[in-house]
Amino acid sequence: MQRANVSALAGMLQQHCPRCRTGKIFRKSLFLFPDMHEWCPACDLKFEREPGYFLGTMYIGYGLALVTIAILSSLLWWFFRWQIQNAVIGGAVLFLPFAPFLTVMARILWIYLDQSIDPDKSEK
Ligand SMILES: [Zn+2]
Repeated sequence: MQRANVSALAGMLQQHCPRCRTGKIFRKSLFLFPDMHEWCPACDLKFEREPGYFLGTMYIGYGLALVTIAILSSLLWWFFRWQIQNAVIGGAVLFLPFAPFLTVMARILWIYLDQSIDPDKSEK
């Protein structure tokens, strides 16, 4: 299977498979958290390689959440001159609408990280 001529960053942002960069990782869904394909529709890469595979996404999601809350808290502190405790609480509350997006991005980052370290070379 030939990989599409797309950078890893563009592939992640478009939610494409890390191996072929054409198949979508997620199905469209009416809910906030979209359904994930079990296999890549284009190259048949199995996204969840083993049970518990996505436990590592917690670390990435935690890091993304901390960075987001820090940025939002800093903005509140900078613009409104709130006390730091209030700015952190406000940043955590403002973070909540971003949580589903960051959860999806954490999974995509995890799949790309895993495929860059230990690529699945099995073919269709
Ligand atoms: Zn693929």
